[in-house]
Amino acid sequence: MKLFFSCRNSFIARLGLSRGIRAGLLVVGSTFASHAQPASPAPTAMLLRPAAVFDGQDRHEGWAVLVENNKITAVGPAAQVTAPAGARMLDLPGLTLLPGLIEGHSHLLLHPYNETTWNDQVLLESQALRVARATAHAQRTLLAGFTTARDLGTEGAGYADVGLKQAIDQGIIPGPRLLVATRALVATGSYGPKLSVDEDVPQGAQEADGVDGIIRAVREQMGKGADLIKVYADYRWGADGSAQPTFSQDELNLIVQTARSAGRGVVAHASTPEGMRRAILAGVETIEHGDGGTPEIFALMQKRGVALCPTVAAGDATAQYKGWRKGTDPAPARIQQKHVSMAAAVKAGVALAMGGDVGVFAHGDNAREMELLVRDYGLSPLLVLRQATSGNARIFHLADRGRLAPGLLADLVAVAGDPTQDVAALRQIRLVMKGGVLYRQP
Ligand SMILES: [Zn+2]
Repeated sequence: MKLFFSCRNSFIARLGLSRGIRAGLLVVGSTFASHAQPASPAPTAMLLRPAAVFDGQDRHEGWAVLVENNKITAVGPAAQVTAPAGARMLDLPGLTLLPGLIEGHSHLLLHPYNETTWNDQVLLESQALRVARATAHAQRTLLAGFTTARDLGTEGAGYADVGLKQAIDQGIIPGPRLLVATRALVATGSYGPKLSVDEDVPQGAQEADGVDGIIRAVREQMGKGADLIKVYADYRWGADGSAQPTFSQDELNLIVQTARSAGRGVVAHASTPEGMRRAILAGVETIEHGDGGTPEIFALMQKRGVALCPTVAAGDATAQYKGWRKGTDPAPARIQQKHVSMAAAVKAGVALAMGGDVGVFAHGDNAREMELLVRDYGLSPLLVLRQATSGNARIFHLADRGRLAPGLLADLVAVAGDPTQDVAALRQIRLVMKGGVLYRQP
């Protein structure tokens, strides 16, 4: 264990983290060691006493949370939560303690398009460079309070997300728990990059078509470590550059059937009514983006129990990369359309997952999606906070997290202020714990 922590500490040191964060790396129920100190016994339990607790559903003042090893063992009014002898006491005055946030749509292998275009990232950046960046992205995500991320495609970086997940799980690099989609599936010809018609260049996802091709590709991705399958049900490959459906209904049905028979769900990128409709009928679990959704399509989603991950932050970011001066210029047509479709989705009672398509914008800036949902789209901070915790956990089948309750993983975040009233509090991250390990503390 000492070696484990020595390695971790020296890694953190090389990344140039502040002394406070380095000093804060502690594990409950294990040994804290550093180069300077010999190993000494650490408490096996920690009692956290914040001003209030958000348990994934509601906020409770004066509650406390007991963590033992990597699990939560008690939650409730402070007077009723008693710590075992020798437990560490951590008072968190003025802070709200909440479940670790769950990012619903990330691309750890991408970085913002205003730094490098998507085409150039896919075609010109080496796998080593992309993975090295991704390790830094994973750390920023975790320190921003996101202890889980559903990573929806490596965009040309093969199965690098599987190795990244292993490195995090083995404690080699700090990062969130990952659900990975690996390469994602696209219909031949529909995706990019596209250069000269004379050159077949590496694509940002795996092309697969027809019965044999689709079954093989889905099984290959699962065999190499995909936790879920991502499919592009439409893309901008219309003759006029518009988004158009890609896979046929039969192909989408087959993707879902092949994944489901091996215990995996399917998520679909879709923004056209027809692409969304086919994906919903095929039985996908979430629709990503959904910008062109109509009241009829959202009614179908609601009826079939398909959730929408609206990724409003990605559209907001790309519109600004294209020159939109937000706050000065009127909203571009695409943003206006997004407001119309989001209103229709909410009216239809569609379940909303919280995910921003982070990678299009900077990793660690994940809270941007939640801020926009509140400030631009009129959702309440409480609703958005539920989406990012218990809501995403339910939609992603993660029964061991997203709420604060005995027996669940000790994935906790503390923020200054009250995030159920003011979304800005989510930028005031003071403590991050994952599996009982503190990565950030006051
Ligand atoms: Zn995406």
